Amino acid sequence: MRIAVLKERAAGEHRVALTPETVKKFAALGATVAVEHGAGAGASIPDAAYAEAGAEVVSAADAVANADIVMGVVAPDPALLAGARPGAWVAATFDPFRNGALVESYANAGLEALSMEFMPRITRAQSMDVLSSQSNLAGYKAVLTAANEYGRAFPMMMTAAGTVQAARVFVMGVGVAGLQAIATAKRLGAQVSATDVRSATKEQIQSLGAKPVFVEEVAGIEGEGSGGYATEMSEEYQAAQAKLVSEHIAKQDIVITTALIPGKPAPRLVSDAQVASMKPGSVIFDLAVAQGGNVEGSRPDEVVEKHGVKIVGYSNTAGHLAADASALYARNLYNFLSAFWDAEAGKPVLDEEIGDAVRLTQGGKIVNERLQG
Ligand code: NAD
Repeated sequence: MRIAVLKERAAGEHRVALTPETVKKFAALGATVAVEHGAGAGASIPDAAYAEAGAEVVSAADAVANADIVMGVVAPDPALLAGARPGAWVAATFDPFRNGALVESYANAGLEALSMEFMPRITRAQSMDVLSSQSNLAGYKAVLTAANEYGRAFPMMMTAAGTVQAARVFVMGVGVAGLQAIATAKRLGAQVSATDVRSATKEQIQSLGAKPVFVEEVAGIEGEGSGGYATEMSEEYQAAQAKLVSEHIAKQDIVITTALIPGKPAPRLVSDAQVASMKPGSVIFDLAVAQGGNVEGSRPDEVVEKHGVKIVGYSNTAGHLAADASALYARNLYNFLSAFWDAEAGKPVLDEEIGDAVRLTQGGKIVNERLQG
């Protein structure tokens, strides 16, 4: 069983899919691990650390030669994987709903694409869930970045020269990233409020000491679809939400938006008129900017200034914490593959529930139910 890890090719991608810690763990299962030179550099992991952990540190072509499993953060171009074994597994993020051509090229190359974003949201897969591990770090980084762009302080300070008011922070979308954003803003001393379409989040917001801001007057606001994800809301709900948000947002200093709906563009939560209603010097961090954006006018990796308000968003927020993001991502992959390790076969054998959920291509075809039609 040979596992290969390449240096990430995507622009600005500093993460790596395997760390020396997980090299040792895979080696303990009996796997050989090959890592491309420089693969860990962006996450502050030198080649020597991989070699010390027992990996071969070689060229991309040598790493991939006869590989049974290739691991990536972002799925590599299949042209790079020509030397892998026929039917080799590639465990990586594929962004499958938006990357149809890439998925197709994996099918054509006879590779088995395993999409880590499609890990089911079930208890036993929590430790394998890269969306959660990366969103958690992203929620933290969003607040720190907004705080950096903000020309005032977060906590209330009573000084000899007078009082500095606490910043008001509003978090829109309370999934994994939003919960961490609330916790981080609270730790920095801000006054925090938050909203979501899933009414189950109300208690979670309160338990973190923040104030829930919810549409109450529209029936059926559960907003929760399969797997704990949000569903698209009715027009009536959206209108009520826009009104509530308009009233609230004008009083905020910082807004962090995190709302996503799987397989759909990110919902638009903040309009240009709402941005204009905020005080000059306010900051909005749009965590959904790479999925189309929750905020009108946000642009990936730019600080856009409109009506005196800064709108910020990274295309890869977790990648700005490359060392921790890589460590957690690599553990997710190890937890995934080791959970299915068949000692006799000397390789992982996936079960139906998780295998069918994450597998995009097999035997030259696209096989995932979520990609049919
Ligand atoms: P996500 O990244 O898909 O979306 C972020 C948040 O945006 C969600 O809370 C969603 O409800 C919210 N949202 C969507 N449309 C909105 C709108 N119009 N206005 C306001 N908010 C909106 O979500 P996520 O962080 O991946 O988490 C989704 C759920 O899955 C959560 O309940 C989470 O606790 C659960 N989860 C379960 C597991 C597991 O059991 N293995 C793992 C991770 C997350």
